[in-house]
Amino acid sequence: MPIPIGQRHSRRTKPRRSAGPRIVHIATEMTPLIKVGGLADVVGALASDASELDISVVLPGYASLLDGVWDADREPLDPIPFQYNGHPQSARLWRIHLAKHPARLFALEMACFSNREGIYTDPKTGEGFDDEGDRYAQFCLAALSTLPRIDLQPDILHLHDYQSALVPTLLKHGPSWGGYYDRTKTVLTLHNLAFQGIYPESVAHRIAGLDQDFYPGGPLEFWGKTNFLKAGLIHADKITTVSPTYAKEIQSGPQFGFGLEGVVQEQSGKLSSILNRIDTEYWNPETDPHLAANYDAKKMDSRKKNTEALLESQKLQPGAPVVGMVTRLSDQKGIDLVRAAADRLLERSLRLVILGSGNKTYETFFEELAEKHSGRVSYDASFNEPLAHQIYGGADFLLMPSRYEPCGITQQIAMRYGAIPVARRTGGLADTLVDGHGQAGSEAKPNSLLFEDYTPEAMLEALDRGLALSEDERRRWRTRAMQQDLGWNVALGEYLSLYRDVLAS
Ligand code: ADP
Repeated sequence: MPIPIGQRHSRRTKPRRSAGPRIVHIATEMTPLIKVGGLADVVGALASDASELDISVVLPGYASLLDGVWDADREPLDPIPFQYNGHPQSARLWRIHLAKHPARLFALEMACFSNREGIYTDPKTGEGFDDEGDRYAQFCLAALSTLPRIDLQPDILHLHDYQSALVPTLLKHGPSWGGYYDRTKTVLTLHNLAFQGIYPESVAHRIAGLDQDFYPGGPLEFWGKTNFLKAGLIHADKITTVSPTYAKEIQSGPQFGFGLEGVVQEQSGKLSSILNRIDTEYWNPETDPHLAANYDAKKMDSRKKNTEALLESQKLQPGAPVVGMVTRLSDQKGIDLVRAAADRLLERSLRLVILGSGNKTYETFFEELAEKHSGRVSYDASFNEPLAHQIYGGADFLLMPSRYEPCGITQQIAMRYGAIPVARRTGGLADTLVDGHGQAGSEAKPNSLLFEDYTPEAMLEALDRGLALSEDERRRWRTRAMQQDLGWNVALGEYLSLYRDVLAS
């Protein structure tokens, strides 16, 4: 379950706003309002960078988002009319006020988001909603219909993943916008190419003016269905993705491109990569209120108290290294490797602390594992922000055996908190971590254990190398990782250059 965390940020203040280019993000997650995974962290970071940009964010008005904000901090604006499926529709627009937040924040209350639990999946079934295509098409149409109504003409619309990837197509081939967006550029960020928004052809026919873009072989058509991300790749002015290795991987073949590798190759002239980072003020072991004891790279002794508190809260016996996981339970995250290796994993002297939800089969597997090995394995299937912090702050190792990983926020948070990542060398994991064997041709010092082959054996071998490190070595790795600059500064500068480039083009 995602958490609404807006309440912590109540009380209105007037943010100072830059006179720089006006960027409007259309996205489906953003910290601190609504989070399922790393997308929220990234949009949250981009929305906070207001020194040289005028930033707004339009989000769906999920029930949990609107419920999570004090009444005083949400202001109803005029309803937004738009057309869908030949009928007039209406969205209720809310302005959300977060203390000291520099961006204008809006949520569109629409029955298909606001009258149900869950963000991407129905919590009852763990499956996606049947009307996904219709609801994201309507979200994009409503977002584009909103900006003229509130006089917020954007220089750039920044779109995130398939949920808002339809926007460039709607600008070029959708309903008439009366010239409002004629000078607007679009940037599409790929946070995960595996999710593309593939729906029946009929969805395209429900959007006024779009049919011509659907004809076989047209940008929106993908093996007889609509594919929102494919159209976005073709119609966006710029595409970014979240790590250099992932930018190469998604062009390399279907294993990472999921059928769109050819389209990405064709559009590679407008593709660049900017590595995600983390909010180092929020993720800060020195001040983190969720930890039993605060610490920093120079005061590492206090970290032990967090390990003890974690073992106690998870009802685990002390006396062995703690391996943590904070993850969605999906095939992407390498959970099948953990399942295949579980018996062998537990032949080692270690404690396993797992936090994550998703695929019901994996949830049941971990529930049973924790029951069978009580005192040695714990499992929490909720979305539990405090426990996530406690795992980062208390675990010796953070296991992240991803099949693919566009960037990965989790391993960077682990580094910030001194939990040593054990991870597969793919995507952003390859770009942010340095293996214990060192990196060929690089001066970089090790801070993690990486493995190449997607096999339980390779994963166990990497973990064994970690378990074999002396206390002193572990301490050195932790300290080194904690001292690394993992903040957003450099990446935000790169986004700024990208915005300037696209505006100049
Ligand atoms: P992805 O976005 O693919 O899920 P990332 O590593 O980029 O993976 O980001 C995951 C983010 O979600 C991290 O901030 C992590 O702490 C958080 N997270 C994942 N699962 C949970 C959970 N069950 N409870 C709390 N936080 C979680």
